Amino acid sequence: MYKLFLLTLSASLSLWAVEIKQTPIEFFDKRVELTKEYIKEHYNLEVKDINIVPKIIVIHHTAIDDFDDSLSRFIAQTLPTDRPDIKSGGVLNVSAHFMVERDGTIHQLMPLEFMARHVIGLNYNSIGIENVGGQNSKDNLTKEQLKANIELVNYLKKKFPSIEYMIGHYEYRCFEGSSLWLEVDDGYRTKKDDPSTRFMRELRDSVEDLKTVPCKKIDD
Ligand SMILES: [Zn+2]
Repeated sequence: MYKLFLLTLSASLSLWAVEIKQTPIEFFDKRVELTKEYIKEHYNLEVKDINIVPKIIVIHHTAIDDFDDSLSRFIAQTLPTDRPDIKSGGVLNVSAHFMVERDGTIHQLMPLEFMARHVIGLNYNSIGIENVGGQNSKDNLTKEQLKANIELVNYLKKKFPSIEYMIGHYEYRCFEGSSLWLEVDDGYRTKKDDPSTRFMRELRDSVEDLKTVPCKKIDD
Protein backbone atom coordinates (compact mmCIF):
# COMPACT_ATOMS: atom_id res chain seq x y z
CA MET A 1 0.00 0.00 0.00
CA TYR A 2 2.79 2.38 0.99
CA LYS A 3 4.61 1.44 -2.21
CA LEU A 4 1.50 2.27 -4.20
CA PHE A 5 1.27 5.62 -2.44
CA LEU A 6 4.89 6.38 -3.32
CA LEU A 7 4.31 5.34 -6.92
CA THR A 8 1.26 7.58 -7.20
CA LEU A 9 3.14 10.43 -5.57
CA SER A 10 6.10 10.19 -7.92
CA ALA A 11 3.76 9.93 -10.92
CA SER A 12 1.94 13.11 -9.93
CA LEU A 13 5.19 14.89 -9.15
CA SER A 14 6.53 13.99 -12.56
CA LEU A 15 3.47 15.67 -14.05
CA TRP A 16 4.71 18.89 -12.49
CA ALA A 17 8.37 18.42 -13.18
CA VAL A 18 9.29 20.35 -16.26
CA GLU A 19 12.92 21.23 -16.62
CA ILE A 20 13.45 24.75 -17.93
CA LYS A 21 16.90 26.16 -18.68
CA GLN A 22 17.39 29.88 -18.23
CA THR A 23 18.91 31.29 -21.45
CA PRO A 24 18.20 35.02 -21.26
CA ILE A 25 18.20 37.21 -24.35
CA GLU A 26 19.00 40.93 -24.02
CA PHE A 27 15.90 42.44 -22.42
CA PHE A 28 17.08 45.65 -20.82
CA ASP A 29 15.59 49.15 -20.48
CA LYS A 30 15.88 49.81 -24.21
CA ARG A 31 13.80 46.76 -25.15
CA VAL A 32 11.25 47.63 -22.46
CA GLU A 33 10.93 51.16 -23.87
CA LEU A 34 10.67 49.86 -27.46
CA THR A 35 7.97 47.43 -26.28
CA LYS A 36 5.99 50.34 -24.78
CA GLU A 37 6.32 52.19 -28.09
CA TYR A 38 5.11 49.08 -29.96
CA ILE A 39 2.09 48.83 -27.64
CA LYS A 40 1.31 52.52 -28.22
CA GLU A 41 1.73 52.37 -31.99
CA HIS A 42 0.09 49.02 -32.70
CA TYR A 43 -2.47 48.69 -29.92
CA ASN A 44 -3.10 52.38 -29.16
CA LEU A 45 -2.52 51.77 -25.46
CA GLU A 46 -0.52 53.95 -23.08
CA VAL A 47 1.09 51.57 -20.59
CA LYS A 48 3.31 52.11 -17.55
CA ASP A 49 4.86 48.66 -17.79
CA ILE A 50 4.89 45.86 -20.35
CA ASN A 51 3.33 43.20 -18.14
CA ILE A 52 0.80 40.92 -19.79
CA VAL A 53 -2.12 38.80 -18.61
CA PRO A 54 -1.72 35.74 -20.86
CA LYS A 55 -4.87 34.36 -22.49
CA ILE A 56 -3.32 32.54 -25.44
CA ILE A 57 -0.33 30.27 -25.98
CA VAL A 58 1.07 30.64 -29.50
CA ILE A 59 3.19 27.79 -30.88
CA HIS A 60 5.85 28.60 -33.48
CA HIS A 61 8.75 27.14 -35.37
CA THR A 62 11.86 29.23 -36.00
CA ALA A 63 12.26 28.25 -39.69
CA ILE A 64 15.91 27.52 -38.85
CA ASP A 65 17.00 23.97 -37.98
CA ASP A 66 19.97 24.98 -35.78
CA PHE A 67 19.48 26.08 -32.16
CA ASP A 68 22.28 28.67 -31.96
CA ASP A 69 21.26 30.23 -35.27
CA SER A 70 17.64 30.33 -34.11
CA LEU A 71 18.54 31.90 -30.77
CA SER A 72 20.78 34.49 -32.42
CA ARG A 73 17.72 35.97 -34.17
CA PHE A 74 16.17 36.94 -30.81
CA ILE A 75 19.14 38.10 -28.73
CA ALA A 76 19.56 41.74 -29.82
CA GLN A 77 17.12 44.35 -28.58
CA THR A 78 16.51 45.87 -32.01
CA LEU A 79 15.30 44.14 -35.17
CA PRO A 80 18.01 42.76 -37.49
CA THR A 81 18.27 44.65 -40.78
CA ASP A 82 17.30 41.57 -42.84
CA ARG A 83 13.64 41.51 -41.78
CA PRO A 84 11.98 43.71 -44.43
CA ASP A 85 8.78 41.65 -43.98
CA ILE A 86 8.07 43.15 -40.56
CA LYS A 87 10.26 46.27 -40.58
CA SER A 88 7.18 48.44 -40.95
CA GLY A 89 6.11 47.13 -37.53
CA GLY A 90 8.92 48.99 -35.77
CA VAL A 91 12.49 48.44 -34.53
CA LEU A 92 11.63 46.31 -31.48
CA ASN A 93 13.24 42.92 -32.12
CA VAL A 94 11.14 39.78 -32.21
CA SER A 95 11.31 37.42 -29.24
CA ALA A 96 9.47 34.59 -27.54
CA HIS A 97 9.21 33.47 -23.95
CA PHE A 98 10.49 29.95 -24.70
CA MET A 99 12.56 28.11 -27.27
CA VAL A 100 12.50 24.31 -27.53
CA GLU A 101 15.53 22.58 -29.02
CA ARG A 102 15.18 19.62 -31.37
CA ASP A 103 16.13 17.25 -28.52
CA GLY A 104 13.31 18.68 -26.38
CA THR A 105 15.44 20.92 -24.14
CA ILE A 106 13.32 23.88 -23.03
CA HIS A 107 14.89 27.33 -22.70
CA GLN A 108 13.21 30.33 -21.10
CA LEU A 109 14.46 33.43 -22.93
CA MET A 110 12.81 36.31 -21.07
CA PRO A 111 10.59 37.12 -18.07
CA LEU A 112 7.16 35.52 -18.47
CA GLU A 113 5.37 38.67 -17.33
CA PHE A 114 6.86 40.74 -20.18
CA MET A 115 5.30 41.10 -23.61
CA ALA A 116 7.24 39.43 -26.42
CA ARG A 117 6.93 40.43 -30.09
CA HIS A 118 6.03 37.15 -31.80
CA VAL A 119 2.54 37.41 -33.27
CA ILE A 120 0.75 40.35 -34.90
CA GLY A 121 -2.36 41.49 -33.00
CA LEU A 122 -2.01 39.20 -30.02
CA ASN A 123 1.33 39.96 -28.36
CA TYR A 124 -0.25 41.72 -25.40
CA ASN A 125 -2.35 38.64 -24.55
CA SER A 126 -0.04 35.77 -25.27
CA ILE A 127 2.94 33.62 -24.41
CA GLY A 128 5.12 32.49 -27.32
CA ILE A 129 6.83 29.11 -27.63
CA GLU A 130 9.36 28.76 -30.46
CA ASN A 131 10.48 25.35 -31.68
CA VAL A 132 13.80 25.02 -33.49
CA GLY A 133 13.08 23.66 -36.97
CA GLY A 134 10.82 24.09 -39.98
CA GLN A 135 13.60 25.32 -42.27
CA ASN A 136 12.30 25.78 -45.84
CA SER A 137 8.79 25.11 -44.44
CA LYS A 138 9.65 21.47 -43.70
CA ASP A 139 7.25 19.75 -41.28
CA ASN A 140 10.14 18.39 -39.21
CA LEU A 141 9.52 19.18 -35.54
CA THR A 142 10.53 16.13 -33.49
CA LYS A 143 8.79 13.74 -31.08
CA GLU A 144 11.01 15.16 -28.34
CA GLN A 145 9.78 18.66 -29.12
CA LEU A 146 6.18 17.47 -29.06
CA LYS A 147 6.69 15.95 -25.60
CA ALA A 148 8.40 19.12 -24.35
CA ASN A 149 5.58 21.32 -25.72
CA ILE A 150 2.96 19.14 -24.00
CA GLU A 151 4.80 19.45 -20.67
CA LEU A 152 5.41 23.15 -21.08
CA VAL A 153 1.81 23.97 -22.06
CA ASN A 154 0.48 21.96 -19.11
CA TYR A 155 2.90 23.78 -16.80
CA LEU A 156 1.81 27.18 -18.15
CA LYS A 157 -1.89 26.30 -17.82
CA LYS A 158 -1.38 25.61 -14.13
CA LYS A 159 0.80 28.68 -13.61
CA PHE A 160 -1.55 31.07 -15.44
CA PRO A 161 -5.25 30.20 -14.97
CA SER A 162 -6.02 33.15 -17.30
CA ILE A 163 -4.85 31.08 -20.31
CA GLU A 164 -7.83 29.96 -22.42
CA TYR A 165 -6.48 29.25 -25.89
CA MET A 166 -3.65 27.43 -27.61
CA ILE A 167 -3.03 28.16 -31.29
CA GLY A 168 -0.48 27.59 -34.01
CA HIS A 169 0.97 30.83 -35.38
CA TYR A 170 -0.69 30.07 -38.75
CA GLU A 171 -4.08 30.50 -37.01
CA TYR A 172 -3.48 33.95 -35.54
CA ARG A 173 -5.71 35.86 -37.96
CA CYS A 174 -8.75 33.97 -36.77
CA PHE A 175 -8.75 36.27 -33.73
CA GLU A 176 -9.33 39.35 -35.92
CA GLY A 177 -12.58 40.95 -34.82
CA SER A 178 -12.47 39.34 -31.38
CA SER A 179 -11.89 41.32 -28.18
CA LEU A 180 -8.41 39.80 -27.89
CA TRP A 181 -7.24 41.28 -31.22
CA LEU A 182 -5.49 44.64 -30.68
CA GLU A 183 -3.63 45.58 -33.91
CA VAL A 184 -4.91 48.93 -35.21
CA ASP A 185 -3.09 48.85 -38.59
CA ASP A 186 -5.26 46.88 -41.03
CA GLY A 187 -2.38 46.71 -43.50
CA TYR A 188 0.08 45.05 -41.12
CA ARG A 189 -0.23 41.27 -41.61
CA THR A 190 2.11 38.41 -42.52
CA LYS A 191 1.31 34.95 -43.86
CA LYS A 192 2.48 32.19 -41.54
CA ASP A 193 2.65 28.40 -41.83
CA ASP A 194 4.30 27.56 -38.52
CA PRO A 195 4.49 25.19 -36.74
CA SER A 196 2.43 22.87 -39.13
CA THR A 197 -1.11 21.54 -38.86
CA ARG A 198 0.30 18.07 -38.09
CA PHE A 199 2.24 19.33 -35.06
CA MET A 200 -0.79 21.26 -33.73
CA ARG A 201 -3.06 18.23 -34.19
CA GLU A 202 -0.68 16.03 -32.22
CA LEU A 203 -0.26 18.68 -29.53
CA ARG A 204 -4.03 19.17 -29.20
CA ASP A 205 -4.53 15.41 -28.91
CA SER A 206 -2.41 15.53 -25.74
CA VAL A 207 -3.46 18.80 -24.11
CA GLU A 208 -6.91 19.19 -22.60
CA ASP A 209 -9.02 22.15 -21.52
CA LEU A 210 -7.67 24.72 -23.94
CA LYS A 211 -9.90 26.23 -26.59
CA THR A 212 -8.95 26.21 -30.25
CA VAL A 213 -8.93 29.29 -32.41
CA PRO A 214 -12.42 30.86 -32.71
CA CYS A 215 -12.88 30.48 -36.47
CA LYS A 216 -12.78 27.65 -38.96
CA LYS A 217 -11.46 29.34 -42.04
CA ILE A 218 -8.32 31.41 -42.36
CA ASP A 219 -8.48 34.14 -45.02
CA ASP A 220 -5.32 35.05 -46.82
ZN1 LIG B 1 5.80 32.02 -35.78
